[in-house]
Amino acid sequence: MTTAGYRLQRRAPLRALNTFGIDATAPLLVEVDDAQALPALAGQGLLGDAASPALVLGGGSNLLFAGDPATPLLRLRGTRIAAVDEHDGQVRVRAEAGAGWHALVEWTLAHGLGGLENLALIPGTVGAAPIQNIGAYGVEIGERVVAVEAFDRLDARFVRLDREDCAFAYRDSRFKRTPDREIVVAVEFLLSRNAPPDIAYAGVADELSAMGVAAAMPADVAEAVCRLRRRKLPDPARIGNAGSFFKNPLVPAAQAEALAIAHPDLPVFPAADAGLRKLSAAWLIDACGWKGHRDGDAGVSAAHALVLVNHGAARGDELLGLARRIRDSVAARFGVALEPEPRIVGAAW
Ligand SMILES: Cc1cc2nc3c(=O)[nH]c(=O)nc-3n(C[C@H](O)[C@H](O)[C@H](O)COP(=O)(O)OP(=O)(O)OC[C@H]3O[C@@H](n4cnc5c(N)ncnc54)[C@H](O)[C@@H]3O)c2cc1C
Repeated sequence: MTTAGYRLQRRAPLRALNTFGIDATAPLLVEVDDAQALPALAGQGLLGDAASPALVLGGGSNLLFAGDPATPLLRLRGTRIAAVDEHDGQVRVRAEAGAGWHALVEWTLAHGLGGLENLALIPGTVGAAPIQNIGAYGVEIGERVVAVEAFDRLDARFVRLDREDCAFAYRDSRFKRTPDREIVVAVEFLLSRNAPPDIAYAGVADELSAMGVAAAMPADVAEAVCRLRRRKLPDPARIGNAGSFFKNPLVPAAQAEALAIAHPDLPVFPAADAGLRKLSAAWLIDACGWKGHRDGDAGVSAAHALVLVNHGAARGDELLGLARRIRDSVAARFGVALEPEPRIVGAAW
């Protein structure tokens, strides 16, 4: 069925729409070509209601369908990217939610703009990027966001949220805390024509040297990051996964110190909150012996302990069961609570 600004599909197969490759079915998929249609969709009840809100789906690279979703799924398909204005080499760029994240990074580099190069090759869409404040190689998008444009389902109106309103934190934001309220329709970034790229993160400078680059431009850093990522992370096109399944846990400084004394090779990092420390979830999981573990087709990557993989026909509830067993073993051995990074659809953590 085609209607102005959106399309509807009943009993929509989701296997190709999530990077875990989980076979699930949505009762209804609403493809929104024009975000201005959202108020009309809300009026028709197609965004669900407070008790069962529609789930917004981007590229499906940060969620796990633990079963068939019970609510409609909504995909924003607008992909426009444009410069809004420029002052003293600082350029505001607006991108619609349906644009691919890496496509945006490539667009900025083609237009001579730096700021997003460390975030090259992260899967997914622009609209999902603020949800968990995507980060990689020393940069989080919260640092580059000017504003997020969203449709507020509670008040049934469009809102413009400044960076401060978004409450960005490590893999977190206001959108993640109240996931069923705002539908992100566009994001505005502040990028630069001349700021030097950030190459401080471990491995980036070495990769640039290996590439023979002395004075790195943003495009060189993006290329270095792409090379590092291709070597380190399993490609969802070859084996289903959602990147890191667990967040690095934040624990009180005293607990981190005690753990570091007992386990001198445990990596401990500073956190934004001075009273907390960030631990390496990968180290904790590896120490419990999970790397390369496999229960049928649900497994842990042999290369990266943080990445759960679907070897072929794993069900979402099987991957969730494995994730819970990993969580329980880390809690029993180290007294540290692991939290999942992807959204679990259809089950509680
Ligand atoms: C191989 C691999 C590597 C990865 N590396 C990284 C990394 O380095 N750093 C990092 O931070 N993440 C990483 N990720 C996770 C993932 O790519 C990001 O979280 C990405 O932003 C998810 O985008 P998506 O469009 O696929 O979102 P989805 O998985 O479709 O959705 C994720 C969440 O966002 C919500 N959402 C999506 N779009 C909207 C919208 N328009 N409005 C409101 N809510 C919305 C969904 O409801 C859901 O809660 C990786 C994933 C993979 C598979």
